[in-house]
Amino acid sequence: MSRLVAFAAIQGGYNIVSKVEGEYQKALQTYNADTSIGFPNTAYYLPVIYSLLGMKVETLEDMKKPLEFARGLLPPHVKGQNHLPYLGPLLDAGMAALFAFEIQEALRYLNDPDFYLHSEDIDEEAGRIWLGAADDTVFRKRGVEFVDGTAPGFAAVVGSAPDPETAKMIVEEYQRRSLYIFCAANQNGTTVTEQLLEAEVQIGWSTRIVPFGPDISSAIFALGFANRAAMAFGGVEPGDYKKMLIYNKDRIFAFVNALGDVNAEWAAAAAGCVNWGFPTLADTDIPEILPTGICTYEHVVANVSHDEMVQKSVEVRGLKTTVASIDIPCAFGPAYEGERVRGADLFSQMGGGKSQATELVEMADMKEIDDAKVELIGKDIGDIKEGENIPLGIYVQVAGREMQPDFEPILERQIHHLINYIQGIMHIGQRDITWIRLGKPAVEKGFTLKDIGVVLHAKFHQDFGAILDKVQVTLYTNKKDVDGLTKRAKAEYKQRDERVETMADEDVETYYSCTLCQSFAPTHVCTVSPERTGLCGAYNWMDCKASFEINPTGPNQPIEKGECLDPELGQWKGVNEFVSQASRGAIDHYNFYSMINDPMTTCGCCECIAATLPTCNGVMTVSREYAGETPCGMKFTTLAGVMGGGASSPGFVGHSKFNITQKKFIKGDGGLLRMVWMPLILKEEIKERLIKEGKELGVPDFYDMIADETVGITEEEILPFLQEKGHPALSMDSIIGE
Ligand code: SF4
Ligand code: ZN
Repeated sequence: MSRLVAFAAIQGGYNIVSKVEGEYQKALQTYNADTSIGFPNTAYYLPVIYSLLGMKVETLEDMKKPLEFARGLLPPHVKGQNHLPYLGPLLDAGMAALFAFEIQEALRYLNDPDFYLHSEDIDEEAGRIWLGAADDTVFRKRGVEFVDGTAPGFAAVVGSAPDPETAKMIVEEYQRRSLYIFCAANQNGTTVTEQLLEAEVQIGWSTRIVPFGPDISSAIFALGFANRAAMAFGGVEPGDYKKMLIYNKDRIFAFVNALGDVNAEWAAAAAGCVNWGFPTLADTDIPEILPTGICTYEHVVANVSHDEMVQKSVEVRGLKTTVASIDIPCAFGPAYEGERVRGADLFSQMGGGKSQATELVEMADMKEIDDAKVELIGKDIGDIKEGENIPLGIYVQVAGREMQPDFEPILERQIHHLINYIQGIMHIGQRDITWIRLGKPAVEKGFTLKDIGVVLHAKFHQDFGAILDKVQVTLYTNKKDVDGLTKRAKAEYKQRDERVETMADEDVETYYSCTLCQSFAPTHVCTVSPERTGLCGAYNWMDCKASFEINPTGPNQPIEKGECLDPELGQWKGVNEFVSQASRGAIDHYNFYSMINDPMTTCGCCECIAATLPTCNGVMTVSREYAGETPCGMKFTTLAGVMGGGASSPGFVGHSKFNITQKKFIKGDGGLLRMVWMPLILKEEIKERLIKEGKELGVPDFYDMIADETVGITEEEILPFLQEKGHPALSMDSIIGE
């Protein structure tokens, strides 16, 4: 631990206690000692003092005892070269500061009763933006969310960001994770609260952004709130400080973000919060307190960039340990989702062109399967050598009273992020183009393929307990079994795809969003319409609709498409508004039916990527399974690397295989008849549908006009073929415009 932090925090503790003692004396000179004191409409007195010390402060006189207690907690000053004052004195200084803060705020209620607004929401017009202590009505309504898990906890944001946009970005990211954001303190007179108002963010208890007050002392309302929750819902007795602090550490997922320079008083408050197990993350270069002990991980982390603030905060507070009941040898949780397994770390891979890997979820009869049964047929990791690639089939059967076949694709699509949650394992793709990379560290820890089954069983129950009662997982690693599963799966995928076959975008008023991929591609928002299936191929409009039914606050939200802004390119007002908000301002519009003009965003999961071929006046598309060169000069992997991060890249677009033969496919750019090249493997896979669609478009032999790698892999090589066949793209309007 740094001497500097200790010095600052202890100094801060002294400053605060002395200042509040002065204010208290002044109050005693102004009011009678029996004057009533307290926060409005609460049965918890001054809740931090009451919960930790068991003292009920009801009058001015009653403040004396806790204030003396605070003074008594102050440790000796840090002297000379003794650079290791241990954590204890530091925590005491912090605690003293917090007790004093609570008294200071109670004095404010006495001296300036209208300073805080007694309401759930602010009154911006009247300039009343500080809400102060939540009364018991607000507390009961909101506090229960911390206990039942609706809100995992809160971020206490103190100070101000460099600009309103940054404040907005950070806060909205927390909102997205369902955390409450408690705002307090100012940095040179500027507050996050005012920045948010400037950025037109709606604040108040109803949006989970609570502006407590403009001074650091108002941060005490956050701790008071947490402690009241522990008393009201956690059964912790007032005065049982040990239980109180442990309850908070274990149950309330909270932390502090210090934005701006950390002065001695902030340092004292930060030290105080460590008592609760709430760490502080700062955007400035303050000395860190990294060793762990009281908080789950580090106590004070400095120099966190604004981009990383949210991720780092949830990591340091230990969100990654929230799923403790999954019995596998590797760490597990959302924190590992974005992690890659690089070449040097690779032990083995399944799929990804090295072997076949397929995943399928099917509904089963209740009597047919055993819950928690995980069976592996074939070799496991222990039976193979480093560098050996094996096929893999993941077959999950689920049964439940509320289960429906419509839910199968939704459950199946979870496999992607759930496997990614395992530390050291990477999952790419879906369906029969799954690709799993196992890292050596995971294998060294004892990871086996069966652990995939353990994870899927546990998480399906956790996340979808409402619809299923039994989960059985069978893993295949013999080629014959995997091929058998793949064949069955393909028939199943086809059936699922065809459920939207007869629907048109015009038939519905509501589309669905999918933001499942934002952990990898933060600005990526798929909008799924009947004629624009998700680019991963795993979600169509029906699937998203079912997913919304199962999980109304999940990643698939209904979007009222609203006014049509461009029927040719496929652009709607309602969609634009949604996308703008869901991409946090990064993308404010896109077109469903064009790859040339502001196409939809693309993430790394896409089954295919289309690219413009100007010389041929057409487009090509390449699917993940084809590893060779393509006429656009880039292989699939290069294309995915360039544009898979959630950008909208004119001239390119990610799409599903099924989408190629949907009626609106790049309609705004000339439609399917623009297609001049595809790899043979893809062409064959969708042959039937290509022939049918060609006929409907009045070009019966269209299938034979599409070049593939046997014709050529450059535009120059394929152009003569297209000319000879009389490919319709050659006589269309110029694809790059005049
Ligand atoms: Fe959802 Fe799109 Fe990702 Fe598929 S690619 S899971 S539709 S966000
Ligand atoms: Zn994706």
